Amino acid sequence: MLEEALPSSKSNTYSYPALALLGAVAIFLIDTFTPLESAIAVLYVAVIVLSASFLSRAGLLAIAAICAFLTFASFVTVHWNDVESSAAIRCLVSLSAIAVTTLLALKNNRATHDLRDQAALLDLTHDAIYVRNDKDVITYWNTGAEQLYGWRREEAVGRSTVDLLKCKFPKPIEEIAAELSEVGRWQGEITHTKRDGTEVIVASRWSLQRDDKGRPVATMITNNDITEQQRAEDALHTAQAELAHVTRLTTLGELMASIAHEVNQPLAAVVTNGEAALRWLQRDVPDLNEVHSSLERMISNGRRASDVIARLRALTRKTDLIRTPLDANELLDDVLLLIERELIARDVALNLNLANAPLPLLGDRVQLQQAVINLAVNAIQAMSAIADRRRTLRIATRSEQTEAPLVVIEISDNGPGIEPSVINKLFTAFYTTKSEGMGMGLSICRSIVESHGGRIIASSELGQGATFTVHLPAREEAA
Ligand code: ADP
Repeated sequence: MLEEALPSSKSNTYSYPALALLGAVAIFLIDTFTPLESAIAVLYVAVIVLSASFLSRAGLLAIAAICAFLTFASFVTVHWNDVESSAAIRCLVSLSAIAVTTLLALKNNRATHDLRDQAALLDLTHDAIYVRNDKDVITYWNTGAEQLYGWRREEAVGRSTVDLLKCKFPKPIEEIAAELSEVGRWQGEITHTKRDGTEVIVASRWSLQRDDKGRPVATMITNNDITEQQRAEDALHTAQAELAHVTRLTTLGELMASIAHEVNQPLAAVVTNGEAALRWLQRDVPDLNEVHSSLERMISNGRRASDVIARLRALTRKTDLIRTPLDANELLDDVLLLIERELIARDVALNLNLANAPLPLLGDRVQLQQAVINLAVNAIQAMSAIADRRRTLRIATRSEQTEAPLVVIEISDNGPGIEPSVINKLFTAFYTTKSEGMGMGLSICRSIVESHGGRIIASSELGQGATFTVHLPAREEAA
């Protein structure tokens, strides 16, 4: 693993050379001044192995040469007058051991240096990279991680990531671990706490390292700080929500006359039915059956008025985006309640073609209703000048199976249609052909649909009408 390729700790910087020097002196003294008849000089290999951990290639060669010289010097000192063959062989064995050990140490040194160079490359990147083992203990911590989180390598290595960084994951860690072990990778956004106590949001990419037998041994984690980006996105999101709210109020304002009528009519019916009930009661012989049906009509009219007000209140309220399980057809029921009167007032026929099966979605009810209301109001307004044919608003829903299941909502009219040259401009903010238009409706529609993972397409046959098709991802678990 990476930590094994890293430089040894500081205490070794001084203790290893001292130990090697002492060892070499001790071996020389024993070899030269004690009568032991064995190849003591072979022990110089320990000095070489020790030196290999802190010396460069040239230094190691110098130490090996010194050890060989000391071996030879001892031999010459002790056996100068009577050269015995056994002593000469012991000297030769020691020299060979020194040579072989030096060669192996040089080879090992080269491999270690290569690995160290590769690990040092990870310090060049601005990304925060760390490695944690299967027990969540940090084994490697690069310079980028030091800069991002504030802990130095020595402080971070050996600690648990969860303790150190107080990770807040986007989903349960068990799910992340399962995905990592299955595909070997995971990526997502995590909130970490830095050394100074502030939080940082990172885009995190995890890669699993396995041993020869395929068992997970470590995870390399590469993190990018996206806190600022996230803040900018949040601010943009808030601004968009404000704008959507204003546009929603404007669209509803356009419908206000019909909505007021829609509420007023059942209220008038409540009064009429109440008066009728009183009259039936005041008869000499009260007709309780008629009273009963008048009261029932009062209740149903009262409910209708309160329904319209409830839908309207929901749409005018400023709420954060709330995703809930929805059904596209039910969503349209609410919309129709609000535009029904406008259709009558503008003499537009409604052609409803709803899917028979449920169309499950996951989304924000208010926002999706806003999008559909906007498309329907645009269609109704586009047909206002049509006098030679029955103005017809067609609303259709269906499910579609492409790569993933989709819910499709289609809103068409038989108005003048849209010039091919402007069809791509419709969704840009402030594009309008209406004298009192804001040109925000379709741009908001598109951002609502896209924030739900869908898309919206306009198509038109000039002179025949226009169609706006909304594709939204279906809620799969219920599909
Ligand atoms: P606004 O309604 O304020 O003009 P929108 O963004 O909702 O803003 O619409 C932009 C423009 O797109 C409209 O001004 C109109 O020219 C065109 N448009 C939208 N819907 C239709 C439609 N159904 N038929 C023809 N033109 C349309």
